[in-house]
Amino acid sequence: MTFNIKIFGIVQGVGFRPFVSRTADAFSVRGTVANKGSYVEIIAQTSENILEKFLAAIKKNSPPRSNILKVDVTKTFDEKNFADFQIVDSEHEIGDIFVSPDIAICEKCAEELFDKKNRRYLHPFINCTACGPRLTILENMPYDRERTSMKNFPMCDDCAEEYFSPTSRRYDAQPICCNECGPKIFLLNSNLEGHDAIKSVRKILVDGGVVAIKGIGGFHLACDAKNFDAVQRLRNSKIRPTKPFAVMFKNISAVESECVVTPAQKKILDSPQKPIVLLQKKICTTIAGNVAPQINRLGAMLPYTPLHMLIFSFPDEIKNFPDALVMTSGNPSGVPISIDDDDAQKNFGNFCDVILTNDRKILLRADDSVMDFIGDEPSMIRRSRGYAPLPIFFEGNKKSVLAIGGELKNTFCLAKNNLLYASPYIGDVGNLQSVDVLKNSVRRMCDLLEISPKIIICDKHPRYQSSKVAAEIAKNLDVPLVKIQHHYAHTLSCMAENNFHDEVIGVAFDGTGYGDDGTIWGGEFFICDMKNYLRVSHLEKFLQAGGDKSARECWRSAISLMKNFDVDDVAKKLNLTSPQNISAQKFLLENKLNCVESTSCGRIFDAVSAVLGICAVATYEGEAAMKLQAVAEKSFLPAPTSLPSDSSALFEEILTRRLEGWDVGALAKFFHESLAEIISAECEKIKSRHGIKTVALSGGVFQNSLLTGLTAEKLKLRGFKVLLNKMIPPNDGGICIGQAAFVNGD
Ligand code: ZN
Ligand code: ZN
Ligand code: FE
Repeated sequence: MTFNIKIFGIVQGVGFRPFVSRTADAFSVRGTVANKGSYVEIIAQTSENILEKFLAAIKKNSPPRSNILKVDVTKTFDEKNFADFQIVDSEHEIGDIFVSPDIAICEKCAEELFDKKNRRYLHPFINCTACGPRLTILENMPYDRERTSMKNFPMCDDCAEEYFSPTSRRYDAQPICCNECGPKIFLLNSNLEGHDAIKSVRKILVDGGVVAIKGIGGFHLACDAKNFDAVQRLRNSKIRPTKPFAVMFKNISAVESECVVTPAQKKILDSPQKPIVLLQKKICTTIAGNVAPQINRLGAMLPYTPLHMLIFSFPDEIKNFPDALVMTSGNPSGVPISIDDDDAQKNFGNFCDVILTNDRKILLRADDSVMDFIGDEPSMIRRSRGYAPLPIFFEGNKKSVLAIGGELKNTFCLAKNNLLYASPYIGDVGNLQSVDVLKNSVRRMCDLLEISPKIIICDKHPRYQSSKVAAEIAKNLDVPLVKIQHHYAHTLSCMAENNFHDEVIGVAFDGTGYGDDGTIWGGEFFICDMKNYLRVSHLEKFLQAGGDKSARECWRSAISLMKNFDVDDVAKKLNLTSPQNISAQKFLLENKLNCVESTSCGRIFDAVSAVLGICAVATYEGEAAMKLQAVAEKSFLPAPTSLPSDSSALFEEILTRRLEGWDVGALAKFFHESLAEIISAECEKIKSRHGIKTVALSGGVFQNSLLTGLTAEKLKLRGFKVLLNKMIPPNDGGICIGQAAFVNGD
């Protein structure tokens, strides 16, 4: 009998077809397997009895990176008799598409990389059916070599033999290559290439230099993470005075000697996605103090490409090579990561000692993903390489949607058939360069996923560049544009991720979002479902004065909240800022100039951070809050036990106690605990009035794992079901998911 089997899910680019072919051989099933773009199709000639075993084996032993979502089996007429089982050429068909993210180098390839007898010894692009680049080299579906940027590197005879041999680890591995036929690495503006280039880079790094390295999803800037001067030089050149740098460690034991690693964190660190994981620094750490100044955490990751491994462990005469390198995205601040040589040369050619590049094109940017933990649960901060564009499943989504996302930390989302595909990280889209990247990425992802949006969705903010892009696309496609309030979108992202459709109390706390009344929102309590929201309460309103500067200059928010204090006196005692600044700010507030009403919780964090002397002026987004959390987590002294009734009272109490000489750490802890209590008490009030027992916590403020952990704990004690973002960031990187979920609610 002949059967037609369609397998849906992550079945492309993960060695699925070779696996099917091997399984068929084992059961003497004859027929074919083909990639159809949206699914894998098997024609199987065998008995019903064996078919059952064959399918069971496929489900049970499927390749590690694959994920079978659905299997359809139908009987077909025996048109022809197959003599054996073959992988046949891909034919394209329309349907749900699953593009594999890039996969970190696997253990077997890592072994071969350092095996002198292997023909891929020290080959910087070694990969196999189970590992290697995917999304970033993909031009079009189905995933086949001729539709990737590997098409410029014809396979040598030896590679071709492996590629076509069902018993090989590289059977059907699209990026297969070797020292003979693969892409070449070289130093820009130099004649050094291949292994000589790696040796030169190692020498420069060991001597304290700064190197740009082309990776999977873009360039990194690297230097020795234990060399203060090298790190400082990178900081000065990149004009990034204090924002923490991520560190790539040689191996897990190098991580463990500097950081505390829980089993859950270790598992993610070493996963095929290999994200940056935020870990607790050890007190005795030897990582340079300027890598993540004043923060008790360190963003750590492991090598995820063969080239990274070669840089750490190349067998040359250098024996004291560092086991930890700063690896930060190669981009000027606010601009997307550089992916080609010209861009790299322009952006950091003037301060890097060398640029190590290669001749394989990166087609789509993918920054490193960043993950924090709340207890043993992941809390995604930036979802990009390794995760995007895997969809999240959300029931009720039928329309083809493009949700453009927010303005900072932009990602966008394409949705169709219950699947929401969030893009890799784009970044801040407030400038022309980023807007171009956003537009191009939208185009590329629409092509890859074969989605032609029937509706476009964006934020309500009248001045977001992302919303302008959305309007332009809507006009070009002649489809409707829908605008969604920022904080409602945050809450929806959390509901969608949890596939939760009933009413919730949505707590959306973050920095800045455009409110329905034209004021700044950011401390909101909603009652909402997938279709509607009602703002039932919010943090105490205050005046945010000074325009854009008020988000960076934390002392400005502090002054706004000092209504009941003698501002000049307090500012002087706390050495908050210059007297000129104080009187200018007071003038703005008194005359309501350049002022806007605000309920932003982010600004309250700023104000507290400023009056506690932790951060008066932030040099990067979220700095004041991150440092406040770090100070709170380090404190061993008991916090006050009083219970302020609202956010204004909380600020005033902290300020009063600070003036009385209370310990800063205890007050930082007090702030987190009291805010968690204020949130859960407010939810309790809403529950008693409206009877809703589920709370969704979202918004950038809930990136703060201390606050989120405390709040969730208090809510659970009060009998609430608590929904959190886990694999979708609670910050603006998750907005697009909420936007996409909304349109599909009706
Ligand atoms: Zn491999
Ligand atoms: Zn080859
Ligand atoms: Fe936000």
